[in-house]
Amino acid sequence: MTDCPPPTLRLSIDSDALTQNWQALNAMSGTGRAGAAVKANCYGLGVDRCVPKLRDAGCQDFFVAHWSEVPAVLRYVPATQISVLHGVLSAEEAAYARATGVSPVIDNLRQARIWQDGGGGSCHLMIDTGINRLGISPADIADPVIQALDVDILMSHLACADEDSPMNAQQMEDFRACIPVIRHQRTSLANSAGIALGADYAFDLTRPGLSLYGGVPRAELDGPIRQVARPEASLIQVKELQAGDKVGYNATFTAPARMRAGVVSLGYADGILRSWAGAHFRSGGTPLPILGKVSMDMIVIDLTAAPKLGEGDWVELPYWLPDAAQQTSLSQYELLTVLGQRFG
Ligand SMILES: *Cc1c(COP(=O)(O)O)cnc(C)c1O
Repeated sequence: MTDCPPPTLRLSIDSDALTQNWQALNAMSGTGRAGAAVKANCYGLGVDRCVPKLRDAGCQDFFVAHWSEVPAVLRYVPATQISVLHGVLSAEEAAYARATGVSPVIDNLRQARIWQDGGGGSCHLMIDTGINRLGISPADIADPVIQALDVDILMSHLACADEDSPMNAQQMEDFRACIPVIRHQRTSLANSAGIALGADYAFDLTRPGLSLYGGVPRAELDGPIRQVARPEASLIQVKELQAGDKVGYNATFTAPARMRAGVVSLGYADGILRSWAGAHFRSGGTPLPILGKVSMDMIVIDLTAAPKLGEGDWVELPYWLPDAAQQTSLSQYELLTVLGQRFG
C-alpha cells in the first residue's frame, strides 16, 4: 500500500500540558484524587493521544458517557477503572457491563432494577441534586432497590460551578445529606470548575474534563491550567488580491488595495465554524486576520504582515480557550468537542 501523503492540517496536542493539568487538578483536589472525564473522544482531542498520558500521570478513574466509547478506552486502562455515565438502559447494556467489568453509573430506579436483574455487582450511583439531567432524586434513595446496590462511587454533578451561584453550596449540602443514607466506597461531586470552588467540594474523587484539555471555567484555574490543543494548517495556496477583489462565501470581504492572501484548508467539518470570522491566525507572534467568511473547507487569511510565508508553510489558529470562547461566542466545551476528524 502506498502511504497517504502528509495532511495539510494538524491538531498538536501538548501532552506535557495535559499531564500537568491533571496533576494540578489532582493537587487542587486536596485529600481527594482526580479522575478524568474522557467522553466524547477526550472532548475531541483523541482517546489514543490523551488516555495513556492521563494513565501515566496517575489517573485511575475514567468516565465516558456511552457504552460505545468503552472499547477505545479499554485498550489503555483496566475495565475496573472505566465508568459509563449514562448507566444501563437495557439488559443488553447490563450484560455488556458485566462481561467487560466496566461499571455503570446507575441513574434511576429503572436502571437499578435492570442492573440487579442482570446479576448486579459493583456500580456507581448518581444523585440528582438539582441539575435535572441524569441522576436519582434524593427522595428515592431509601428505596430498597437502591439500598440493595453495591455502590462504589456515590456521586452528584454541579450545575453551575463555573459561576458564583448559591446553588453550588446548596447542591453540596444536599449531596452531603445523602451520604449517610447509602452504603458506598467513595464520594464524588466536583467537575473541573467544582475543583476550583475549594476543598469542601473535592470529596474522595473529582471528575475534571474540560480543564484537563485546557479549559478555564473559573478564574482560579487561570494559571494552573495550560493550553493543550493547537489547530494548525498549512497554506495550500498563496495569491495576490487586487483592489476590489472579493473573498469567500457571499463576498463579504473586499480588498481595499493590492494584498497578499493565503488559503488554509480548515472549515466547518474541522470544527472551525463561521463564528471565527473576524478572528486571526498567527505565524510566530504575527497575527494574520481572517478575510471574509469561513467558506466550507477553506479560510482565506491576510498575509500582509508575513510577506515571507509561502505555500506549504504552517499557520496556527490561536486556541487559548477563554479567549477563543470570547471571540467566537462558542463555549469552551464546544470549542474542543467540535474539532473534527481530519486533523493529522
Ligand atoms: C462531563 C462530566 C464531567 C466533567 O465535567 P467538566 O465540566 O468538563 O469538568 C464530570 N462529571 C460528569 C457526571 C460529567 O458528565
